[in-house]
Amino acid sequence: MKAEIIAVGTEILLGDIVNTNAQYVAKSLADMGIFVYHQSVVGDNWERIKKAYETAFERVELVITTGGLGPTKDDLTKEVAADYFGKNLMLDEASLESMKGYLLGRNQPITEGNKKQAYFPEGAIILENHHGTAPGCIIEEKGKILILLPGPPREMMPMFSKQVIPHLSKYQEGYLVSKTLRVCGIGESYMEEMIKDIVEVQNNPTIAPYAKEGEVTLRITASGKNLEEAKALIDPMEREVRIRLGNHIYGEGETSLEETIGKLLIDNHLTIATAESCTGGLLAGRIVNVPGISSVFTEGVITYSNSSKIKLLGVKEKTLEEHGAVSKETAVEMAEGVAKLGNTDIGIAITGVAGPGGGTKEKPVGLIYVGLYIKGNTYTKQINFKGDRQRLRNFAVTQALCWLRK
Ligand code: ATP
Ligand code: MG
Repeated sequence: MKAEIIAVGTEILLGDIVNTNAQYVAKSLADMGIFVYHQSVVGDNWERIKKAYETAFERVELVITTGGLGPTKDDLTKEVAADYFGKNLMLDEASLESMKGYLLGRNQPITEGNKKQAYFPEGAIILENHHGTAPGCIIEEKGKILILLPGPPREMMPMFSKQVIPHLSKYQEGYLVSKTLRVCGIGESYMEEMIKDIVEVQNNPTIAPYAKEGEVTLRITASGKNLEEAKALIDPMEREVRIRLGNHIYGEGETSLEETIGKLLIDNHLTIATAESCTGGLLAGRIVNVPGISSVFTEGVITYSNSSKIKLLGVKEKTLEEHGAVSKETAVEMAEGVAKLGNTDIGIAITGVAGPGGGTKEKPVGLIYVGLYIKGNTYTKQINFKGDRQRLRNFAVTQALCWLRK
């Protein structure tokens, strides 16, 4: 079955809001093996919405709209749908009742506009809205399926996942299954090199790398007649990729790098403190993302100036004079200093030139040192990065976290 998504709303056309609904619906349909052939956007205008339905049904069988189900006069999606199919709008008492209940719970009166939201094209299947007043609906007629969903994503998404997907599953021809492997510590191009031959002959499953600020995700996707068949296709490719990339793979699915590290620290009862200069607390922020981290994370200090590095971390004046704040010597003393301050097993420190100004020939923008103290031993790592200030700082934090894994 071929599908088209129509986003209804003038504010999308004007660029005031981003069409995230289309992205969500497209991805959900793709996951079920239903292919979206077209996406379009149309303003809140009767003729143009009708034209959009006509054009869409000339080329696909399934059309999904989002937006325009609200109580106001410019919300037209349902009214135009009734016109397009030549149907009357009929009151659905059950929808009216549940809308009253929803509004009552919020101390709001029911308006004439709300009542309009309880009218549907005759014969439509109604999709309940548990997060707002606008129910959606499904109209099936002569091989055409039109599904109308509300605009606000927090109403649209649960309606789609809980009511639309089960309805569409009968049209599902195949199943797509994806598995995401998360990689850090190697660049995207180097990683591609390591799996080049697999990528070159990919067919089913397919494999797609996607890089983001020091991390790479690898998505393996297979299609099969049923879920088991699709899953069975993924397994051998995953095994091969794991052999190639080894422990550069730190997790799978939605697991974040900090979750992986956090678990490692908690499971091994290793306490940690952080000292940051150019990243200004980003590292500590990532670590604190992990629930339960309080059992191992004691503190994070931001020592931006030299005097603060001396005062809070005990970095030697001589070290700063001889080697500068951005040096492996300073990074080590920062790491040692913060471990001492927090009385922790691990101290990790970041110091670098974040730019855009302040770089020199010897120490250009993008030069970063990570210092690591672990139970009496110290290590340093040098990073050279090209990019703007924000990306650089995020990159440094990701590299530091990734390094901590090893
Ligand atoms: P309402 O009852 O809020 O009027 P509606 O179904 O009529 O709902 P719209 O009026 O089209 O929907 O949009 C309401 C809000 O939902 C928009 O202001 C916007 O914040 C969000 N929204 C609408 N369409 C999209 C979209 N395609 N992607 C992301 N957000 C959207
Ligand atoms: Mg509206």
